Amino acid sequence: MTDTDTHDPTSLRTPIVAVLGHVDHGKTSLLDKIRGSAVIEGEAGAITQHIGATAVPLDVISTIAGELVDPDDFDLPGLLFIDTPGHHSFTTLRSRGGALADIAILVVDVNDGFQPQTIEALDILKRSETPFIVAANKIDTVPGWNPNEDTPINDTYDAQSDRAASRLDESLYEIIGELSDEGFSADLYWRVQNFQRNVGVVPVSAMTGEGVPDLLAVMMGLSQRYMKAEMEIDVAGPGVGTVLEVKEEKGFGTTIDTVLYDGTIRSDDTVVVGGTNEPIVTDVRALLQPRPLAEIRTESRFEKVEAVKAASGIKIAAPELEHAMAGAPVRVVRDRDIEDVIEEVQAELADIAVDTDEQGVVVKADTLGSLEAMADALGEAEIPIVSAEVGDVAPRDVSVASTAEDPKQQAILGFNVDVLADAKTRAEQDDVKLFTDEVIYQLVEEYDEHVEELERAQQ
Ligand code: GDP
Repeated sequence: MTDTDTHDPTSLRTPIVAVLGHVDHGKTSLLDKIRGSAVIEGEAGAITQHIGATAVPLDVISTIAGELVDPDDFDLPGLLFIDTPGHHSFTTLRSRGGALADIAILVVDVNDGFQPQTIEALDILKRSETPFIVAANKIDTVPGWNPNEDTPINDTYDAQSDRAASRLDESLYEIIGELSDEGFSADLYWRVQNFQRNVGVVPVSAMTGEGVPDLLAVMMGLSQRYMKAEMEIDVAGPGVGTVLEVKEEKGFGTTIDTVLYDGTIRSDDTVVVGGTNEPIVTDVRALLQPRPLAEIRTESRFEKVEAVKAASGIKIAAPELEHAMAGAPVRVVRDRDIEDVIEEVQAELADIAVDTDEQGVVVKADTLGSLEAMADALGEAEIPIVSAEVGDVAPRDVSVASTAEDPKQQAILGFNVDVLADAKTRAEQDDVKLFTDEVIYQLVEEYDEHVEELERAQQ
């Protein structure tokens, strides 16, 4: 008999949170502040460090948030924050159902307002239908701002000097206005009744920590109220997750950092992982978690574990993972028919596959999610795509691009990827243009400018 027969099948998992926003708006600082507060407020070991994620349990959240979060009102276990903020995690956000993140925090610097990556993040949130909250960050920099870390942010907000209040109002209402331009109805969080219909804006300072309790309270409330049904999982069932990153690890070969959002994975499981060519079927060699800092000496940074259950971040070491794709699904086979599981993975991949044209540019991106976002942006700009793949720009991509009949299409657009040295040389020889950037629409703009130049040259 397996555990599956003896366990209560359903349980509520931790909602998974991604932090997105423009570079330098404070994503890393905000995550650090949340983690830092959790360490200070919680009992030792109360937060658990996962691979690629940090779990903050409900009791720690309620200690940080004080009267804003009464643990008796919740049965969700806490929040799991994806650690790598910015492009990497946001572009791996996937449509709900095969979701990587359940909720997102969109960080916007109150001094800087909406910027290219803010808009890009919003497009992705829109497409994936991920509920989100806006953290209007760096309020401590507002001239005349009088901090009060012990009261909820709306009280502090109300108690500001006229100068600070009008300055802050101006910034916050600009953010609210920009959200509205993008099709979201938003307001300051204490004026929002229904967080499913309206985006709550929480003024915060990742520096002083003001507003962080409010942010946590809003996220817990939103999850508990509107997302509970989606948090129901079959804990003992075969694990289901998404690849965050594909990494070489000394002593373990190629490994995948995975966020598990359903079921359990065990160290003797067979898994099916989405790969660049076809699904990879492989046997887990080890499940790895970060070792507590104090224990790291000469040994590995990782500790082997026998099993983990959702929601968790876990590193999976297994043979054949070289072609695993960031953003692709991972499924445990367990007692099921392996062909069925392969089909499920293929179906998930097909769902996020990019339609290609007979002629067009070559597109490369770091994750499946970002590939999809690139394809959307190029589609809107009416730029055809001949091939779209996850991975660095390789000589093979140059070969494909060089065969385009239209010189405009002898081009490779790479998002968040490197160009391999051989590919660079080949591209120079074959007159293939390479464009790489970390902001999708800048990439599209650069390409458009190139096309305009070509057209001018032809006239
Ligand atoms: P990221 O690129 O979005 O991850 O941004 P970082 O977290 O690296 O922050 C960018 C810069 O803004 C750093 O110098 C931070 O110290 C600073 N910063 C972030 N949050 C705050 C804040 O709330 N107040 C102030 N004054 N500075 C902040």
